[in-house]
Amino acid sequence: MKKLLFLVSMTLIFITAGCRKTVEFPITDLHVHLKGNFTLEDAVRKSEAENIQYGIAVNCGLGFLVQNDSQVDSFLLIMNDYPQFYVAMQAEGREWVNLFSKESIEKFDYVFTDAMTFTDEKGRRNRIWLPEETFIDDEEEFMNYLVKTLVTILNTEPVDIYVNATFLPAQMADRYDQFWTEQRMDEVINALQTNNIAMEINNRYEIPSADFIKRAKKAGVRFTVGTNNADENFSGAKYALDLIKECNLTESDFWLPVKKERI
Ligand SMILES: [Zn+2]
Repeated sequence: MKKLLFLVSMTLIFITAGCRKTVEFPITDLHVHLKGNFTLEDAVRKSEAENIQYGIAVNCGLGFLVQNDSQVDSFLLIMNDYPQFYVAMQAEGREWVNLFSKESIEKFDYVFTDAMTFTDEKGRRNRIWLPEETFIDDEEEFMNYLVKTLVTILNTEPVDIYVNATFLPAQMADRYDQFWTEQRMDEVINALQTNNIAMEINNRYEIPSADFIKRAKKAGVRFTVGTNNADENFSGAKYALDLIKECNLTESDFWLPVKKERI
């Protein structure tokens, strides 16, 4: 019996140590939105309760709440009362570079974007998280155009993080590994590394894949944790924690912004 108890307790110690290994460093979710019923006060409570630091991001771009410099200032004024959070600009569409001054962009702690909105060769504005606004005539051609667009974004837009990284439209997402070939992965990894842009590990969409992350890590790309919550119904950072373990990521594999001084 004593032997059994010893074995059980040793197993428990082993499991606990294994779990602790995944949270050896603080987790910061740099992609939290005030959406649905999720308020700043909720963010304060949730962040403390789950022991996860937050970066609060506002969507900035054509058709969004923040479309010009003065709206940026209004948002930042509110965030002045919440110095515990990083403050992020989520740059939307491809038009954002012309909507905001350099000074306004630099007021944020960091800027990120994704490749989910773009105009294709036939002039159609794709928003690839919406099946009805995604135009796929040929899947391989669509994929080639998506990667080409993404690489151009990474090479030309002044962002710190590529978020919702490697997202595929619903029509193609079930064949992620087929579309994300080694050559396509390397094109993206190369652009991230050349431009010193971090890649988000996204808890909501559970992307990128472990293979993609391992390959990017090998090339020296750094990562961030992000959720991109649609409302108040999100919790923890399970996907990122799982992948940190699976891909042996350490604190130095992660990028963090520097908080700017606010008045
Ligand atoms: Zn977002």
